Amino acid sequence: RVGADPPRIRRLEESVVNRIAAGEVIQRPSSAVKELVENSLDAGASTVSVTVKDGGLKLIQVSDDGHGIRFEDLPILCERHTTSKLSTYEDLQTIKSMGFRGEALASMTYVGHVTVTTITEGQLHGYRVSYKDGVMENEPKPCAAVKGTQIMVENLFYNMVARRKTLQNSNDDYPKIVDFISRFAVHHINVNFSCRKHGTNRADVHSASTSSRLDAIRNVYGTSVVRDLMEIEVSDENDGDAVFKMDGYISNANYVAKKITMILFINDRLVDCTSLKRAIEFVYSATLPQASKPFIYMSINLPSEHVDVNIHPTKKEVSLLNQERIIEIIKNTIEEKLRSSNTTRIFQTQA
Ligand code: ADP
Ligand code: MG
Repeated sequence: RVGADPPRIRRLEESVVNRIAAGEVIQRPSSAVKELVENSLDAGASTVSVTVKDGGLKLIQVSDDGHGIRFEDLPILCERHTTSKLSTYEDLQTIKSMGFRGEALASMTYVGHVTVTTITEGQLHGYRVSYKDGVMENEPKPCAAVKGTQIMVENLFYNMVARRKTLQNSNDDYPKIVDFISRFAVHHINVNFSCRKHGTNRADVHSASTSSRLDAIRNVYGTSVVRDLMEIEVSDENDGDAVFKMDGYISNANYVAKKITMILFINDRLVDCTSLKRAIEFVYSATLPQASKPFIYMSINLPSEHVDVNIHPTKKEVSLLNQERIIEIIKNTIEEKLRSSNTTRIFQTQA
């Protein structure tokens, strides 16, 4: 191409930009469900109900009994970068809510049809309004409502042919959705969660608020799992200030599974941490005789300035200060726990 004119650079149309960005934030139906449930939790809900049709491609509906949305905020609710949670960049450092960027609802309106029904405390009726491409499609209509917010997303990815095809061909996303809700139910033990397929009465997750973590795990993962769990806890202090605290439940030598279940919350955010997961799998395979994969529920708390929450478009990963050191401490704690429980078990069988 020597001598050829370089191609012209043009500005993309805003609708194209928005759809591309939306496709990154909402990668699949389960990512929409996660965002919606996190919004419900951010709104202080004590009950969150999820209904799904066609693996979320036809319909996702999340209802909560949280604080609702003000009537006067409805016009900008689904615009990009509108949020009640963050105002200055510095707030990111201390933010407690799971949301902060005001992108989730907007994104859903660029790749699906969104209808919101909401009521705030003290109002006689609620409002219902639909959104498309970031804007309100009509004036909010008064309607009956009890408490909180219901958000309905229909025909997700209707305008992203390739994405829709891939999702239709792959096994549907419903198991992933159930998995997300199960994880939330284990961590947020004071919230009632339910998740069901549209048109069925039977809920696939149904957790009632409890004060016991083990009850919550039993509720979702069953009695046989809970029987083989041990509590773990560790904290690391720096000049008297606890800089890192971890607590949770891990499976013992009797637990048998082909796949690891790793439920990880860091500062109350549901996240993945591949290096921690690998380290834990390694400890189990090196410490226990049978090659069973573990069940892990772990909640890590760090000073918020040690956690960068804004490194991933879906907020799926966070980055931690001193990550290696933290992983090392957790590894050692688990190893110790497994060794001591393993000897106890052998001792018990011999006695
Ligand atoms: P973010 O959560 O990052 O603020 P979202 O697009 O997810 O961005 O939501 C935008 C805003 O809409 C939130 O800041 C919140 O004020 C409001 N909102 C969304 N869902 C709910 C809900 N279920 N209950 C109350 N308010 C909600
Ligand atoms: Mg949000």
